[in-house]
Amino acid sequence: MSANALANQKYGLLIHYDFCTGCHSCEMACKKEYGLEQDQFGIKVAQYGPVQNSEKKWEFFYMPMLTDLCTLCAPRVAEGKLPTCVHHCQAKVMQYGTIDELAEQLKLTPKSALFAPKCNA
Ligand code: SF4
Ligand code: SF4
Repeated sequence: MSANALANQKYGLLIHYDFCTGCHSCEMACKKEYGLEQDQFGIKVAQYGPVQNSEKKWEFFYMPMLTDLCTLCAPRVAEGKLPTCVHHCQAKVMQYGTIDELAEQLKLTPKSALFAPKCNA
């Protein structure tokens, strides 16, 4: 790939939320790294359930969501480090990469979400 094509790449996070434990470490790591206020989040973990679906099976999962405060950890990435939320996720359910490569991965991983935050625009 040419240098120009590389420079134009968009980046994001792929989150395999089916395996998210709801530990909130990603939230805390981001808030600490960027000194965010109590009600500010670069990433926020939502919870769904437990509820019974139409097949009487219980559904219960966590969904980490990126906000407009997410910078995809540009300063850390420039130093060759992973975004701090990815680094601190002990369940290893978050992947950082180009949108193209993450979209390929998404095809293989059901119950995953691909985020391309505003900082890419
Ligand atoms: S990538 Fe960085 S800025 Fe974005 S949510 Fe994760 S820790 Fe926060
Ligand atoms: S750190 Fe990982 S397992 Fe914990 S809430 Fe965030 S995404 Fe889920």
